[in-house]
Amino acid sequence: MQKKNTIIDRSIVIDCGHGGDDPGFNGQGLSEKEFALILGLKLAQQLRAQGYTVHMTRDDDKTLSLDERTGYANKCSHADALISLHGNANINPAVCGIETYFMTPELFKTTLNLMNHEDTHHIDSHRKELAKKSEKLAMSVHKDLIKEAQKFQNVVDRKVKKQPGQVLFGDMPSILVECGFLSNPEEYALLVNTKYQDALVSGMVSGLGKFFETSFA
Ligand SMILES: [Zn+2]
Repeated sequence: MQKKNTIIDRSIVIDCGHGGDDPGFNGQGLSEKEFALILGLKLAQQLRAQGYTVHMTRDDDKTLSLDERTGYANKCSHADALISLHGNANINPAVCGIETYFMTPELFKTTLNLMNHEDTHHIDSHRKELAKKSEKLAMSVHKDLIKEAQKFQNVVDRKVKKQPGQVLFGDMPSILVECGFLSNPEEYALLVNTKYQDALVSGMVSGLGKFFETSFA
């Protein structure tokens, strides 16, 4: 039984992908920026109800650059994790499923080089430790996300993947969740279903909880 006055001293940054001038994938109906915001607001509400402190890079339809997102996340100096929310898309409408990304130190280095950062001193033990924690966070969140989603319908598990991405540069364990393909008609119908959205959110909350239980004991 859960104690009534349990205080969870954890702080999480939620990054709702895209926004404002950038709709992300925009097929018919709900665009990616709208989907990410709906899910992010639900996730924030659930996490706050459990006692987490939640910071959001955006909680309305605002345009944000990648620099602004990572800058904001890094300013939340006591944040313990970042979760970036997206809806996926593919030119092949048959492609579907959920996948979760984290970044390795090697990908970090490659991305910095692509951005013309000359020094690579960022690839230190701290960065390696962050990557390890990010992988663990990705595994934990993805596992429970899939579990909850599959209770609802037999969605495809596209697994945890290594992926470069500036939003994953923050100074905290960071992951990006592609919650499903808005370009797939069947999965789109799920993603706009509020009960399915709630299932995705409870999976993420449960996965985050397990990550914190085992990582900072
Ligand atoms: Zn996106």
